[in-house]
Amino acid sequence: MLTVSDLTVDYGPVRAVRGVSLDVGEGEVVALLGANGAGKTTTLMAIAGLRKVAAGSVTFAGRALLGLPPEEIVRTGIGVAPEGRRIFAGLTVDENLRLAGSIVAPEVEIARREALLDRFPILRERYRQRAGLLSGGEQQMLAVARALLPGPRLLMLDEPSLGLAPQMVDLVFDLIAELKAEGVTILLVEQNVARSLEVADRAVVLANGQVALAGPAADLRNDDQVRAAYFAA
Ligand code: ATP
Repeated sequence: MLTVSDLTVDYGPVRAVRGVSLDVGEGEVVALLGANGAGKTTTLMAIAGLRKVAAGSVTFAGRALLGLPPEEIVRTGIGVAPEGRRIFAGLTVDENLRLAGSIVAPEVEIARREALLDRFPILRERYRQRAGLLSGGEQQMLAVARALLPGPRLLMLDEPSLGLAPQMVDLVFDLIAELKAEGVTILLVEQNVARSLEVADRAVVLANGQVALAGPAADLRNDDQVRAAYFAA
């Protein structure tokens, strides 16, 4: 469904992503893992059209994405909940959701918003509050709800559990498992490697802007290299 080939992204003289290739099949959850600065966020942002790409290609559902403006990429069916959530703190929960829904027909937007408020009751409770007043976990739910509002076929999540209290981390991973069960395709960037490998079908590990390791999540859970890097006691 999503195919990234030889993706290369520079920040000025710094080559942050060096020839990364990865695939995400329909209905799969793929975890994109790696240390800080490995190039995970840059890869996601490049797919979303939010970073200029130096070389490579990205195709989604048979369509070449590179060069398309970010809002056109959303229209192709890709939703992003970015690192740091990036919700509009000064707007209400309601206003944040309505903005995200502006690319779909009004009656579709209303139905989806209602369904999302059923899924995230806390957002219904806080509907008229400014998003900046929500807790970190609630803001993450809002960021995911906002990404889901246009009805994406592929959801990209960047560090959704970062900085959250343990119960909220559980909620985030439960949500990912629920979405997967509903058939949503997910590309997940996470620092919580153990939890990611539980929920993912496959994983790609980046190091220094390159793919260091890739394979079924179950294999990576038992891989000596991965265990040494991430599960050392
Ligand atoms: P993190 O988990 O810290 O977000 P990451 O794997 O997502 O790490 P990126 O944020 O994609 O990594 O960063 C990849 C490389 O690009 C790093 O060396 C980083 O310092 C560099 N980099 C990221 N953003 C910028 C920027 N705006 N300007 C210059 N260099 C950047």
